[in-house]
Amino acid sequence: MMHLRLADVSDGLCAELRFPDGAAAQVDCGSAISGAAADAWLRILAANPTTPSFGPDTFILTHLHTDHYNGVLDATNSPSFPRLANLRRVVTAGVPRTPDRSMFLRAAFAASFRVLGSDSGHMRYDFLKAVHQLNGGQCISFRQVFQNDTVEVGGARLQCIWPPREIDDSRFARSLEKALAKFDAALEADPFLREIHERVEGQPHLQGLEMEPAGAESESRSIEFGEDDLRSPPLEDITPPRTVPPETKQANKALTDLANQLSLALRAGTSLLIWGDVGEPRLRPAIEFLRSVNAIDVDCMVAPHHGTYWNPALLNLRSGSTLISHGPKLLPKYKHEWAEISGAVRSTHLEGDICVQLWHW
Ligand SMILES: [Zn+2]
Repeated sequence: MMHLRLADVSDGLCAELRFPDGAAAQVDCGSAISGAAADAWLRILAANPTTPSFGPDTFILTHLHTDHYNGVLDATNSPSFPRLANLRRVVTAGVPRTPDRSMFLRAAFAASFRVLGSDSGHMRYDFLKAVHQLNGGQCISFRQVFQNDTVEVGGARLQCIWPPREIDDSRFARSLEKALAKFDAALEADPFLREIHERVEGQPHLQGLEMEPAGAESESRSIEFGEDDLRSPPLEDITPPRTVPPETKQANKALTDLANQLSLALRAGTSLLIWGDVGEPRLRPAIEFLRSVNAIDVDCMVAPHHGTYWNPALLNLRSGSTLISHGPKLLPKYKHEWAEISGAVRSTHLEGDICVQLWHW
């Protein structure tokens, strides 16, 4: 029997998958409310006192939006949070091949650095650094996965259902083109962004942390992240002013919005689908993949983007129960169509923490 614990973090996501052999994977840990996700993680950890050694061995990060990972940063900054010595592996979605992939990555890095300006400014780097602190300074294996790749946790196999290795449709290309046009306008308006953008060229950290998708299906690479990487954070000597021009903010928003389209989604057999924040235009091809692997009828599903999206393609799915992780901000955006394909719909806002037992993985 597998356990899914979905914590009430208000608007955000924080879940744990635990298998009979004691192996566990944490899936995201973030909330729109400061501190809520780290508290939720403590509740999840406390619910498993029989674990042989403390904590999950794998952190699965669906995507780098704060409502999915800020609990990790909060946990790192809290002196009372336990060290998670088992936590040695991070799995996240790779960035698919797209027409302007390297331009996109370089622009996204520069815009995020300019707007956040804190720590390294590289969200993925900052996230890995936080996990590294949380596990007591041990090396982390960092792996990026694509559709059809599998992640083994204990004896269980989780399959990535999104993103694919390559996205070549015109709708994505148009969104990317628009975001890059906004970025060009921001480069004109913001000399600090220009400097960062020039410096990003050839940054080994950026290239190392955003691996090219490997060629063959089911083949994916991982890198080790440890002390050496922490010695030279990217662009540590640039401190741009806090005031950010509106053009740069708009460009950063357009580039980070694309992250939802590239969110990780995965399944555990026909027991469970976890959608992350896979966005509305991407649900259709993701469901086509599920159809091809006979996984459109599942026991339980964590709805995409906190239940705020609906696409008629979802009518092809069936779920015994559909779980919605949301709080007061996203509750009014809940789409009632979820009830049409679900035996039951359960909400963390209404029920608090939810624990589900599952059998078919
Ligand atoms: Zn989200």
